[in-house]
Amino acid sequence: MFITVPLLDLKAQYATLRHEIEPVVREVIESQYFIGGPRLAAFEKNVAAYCQSSHALGVSSGTDALLLALMALGIGAGDEVIVPVYSFFATAGCVSRLGARPVFVDIDPKTYNINPELIEAAITPKTRAIIPVHLFGQLADMEAISHIARKHNLFIIEDAAQAIGSADEKGRRAGTFGDIGCFSFFPSKNLGGFGDGGLVTTQNEELHTKMLYLKNHGAHPKYYHKMIGGNFRLDALQAAVLDVKLKYLDQWTAGRQKNAAFYNKALASGELIRPFAVEGYRHIYNQYTLRSQRRDDLLAYLKENNIGCEVYYPVTFNNQECFKPLGYKSGDFPVAEQIAREAISIPVYPELNDDQKSYVVEKLLAFSA
Ligand SMILES: *Cc1c(COP(=O)(O)O)cnc(C)c1O
Repeated sequence: MFITVPLLDLKAQYATLRHEIEPVVREVIESQYFIGGPRLAAFEKNVAAYCQSSHALGVSSGTDALLLALMALGIGAGDEVIVPVYSFFATAGCVSRLGARPVFVDIDPKTYNINPELIEAAITPKTRAIIPVHLFGQLADMEAISHIARKHNLFIIEDAAQAIGSADEKGRRAGTFGDIGCFSFFPSKNLGGFGDGGLVTTQNEELHTKMLYLKNHGAHPKYYHKMIGGNFRLDALQAAVLDVKLKYLDQWTAGRQKNAAFYNKALASGELIRPFAVEGYRHIYNQYTLRSQRRDDLLAYLKENNIGCEVYYPVTFNNQECFKPLGYKSGDFPVAEQIAREAISIPVYPELNDDQKSYVVEKLLAFSA
């Protein structure tokens, strides 16, 4: 039997939604109302409720969500912001873009999220904020991080780009712990648009208003600029598509969780290290990430067998060329650097069928035998 398993199959998802999405897209096109408008307002209301957040604003990408959050908190030259050394580039890149300094902290060897025990040693009088990342769809230890932030009077910006709807054991959702939560609707995220998009959430009315202005060049009213912002808007077309998809997000999350449980059980024997799920947390499995000391061989082997896989992420921030001026060395962050050598993500998207999953497991077990 010839089986191929892509890392993600967005066509399979679209096939189930075409009949609902095409009419709303056509409606936006017919209205010729592409910026703001009722579709955006409806989506912002619905997604705020989904995130259990008092406020939500659609923005142009997850990257711009982070940039906007940092701008709203007034972070810039001379400031330091603590970030995990292992994440997608934007987490640290946005800090540098504003002239502030990203300060790297190593990760927890089990969850791969920022290790709270190492945060206080990285705090200096210049530290203004911490950006925990809820990597692969699982919350960072927000209780410990919030405690540190309160003690040192620091802001928290949650990078929840991979974690919409993920929650702690009390059911508290990503994006509601910190001052601002940042989300991405990049097509490969659990809630993906038809292009770029993102979201900021906050429980703080003042920050909400400030971000509302900043995403429109700081204007209020139009053409009267209170502050210098940018164009960080979410298109009405994207909002319309995302609002349709949002209704299915819990169903898709359940599918991802089911697939992860299947892999966890099937891979219990063998040399591969499975993802660690914190007891009681709602992990939404944006990625199902294994570890192998023979990672590069495994990557080649899976690709030969038509199984999509990817390394998130092969290079920690301290080893990125653009961050050389920060003065870190290779080896400064032993846990993250080891994970970067060993991590490999395999298909976990909800539309995977039983044959595909069994095939993936069969090949993984054959590799580690
Ligand atoms: C995807 C992602 C981003 C950036 O989102 P974009 O919408 O691609 O700009 C930021 N942080 C993390 C952790 C991400 O996974």
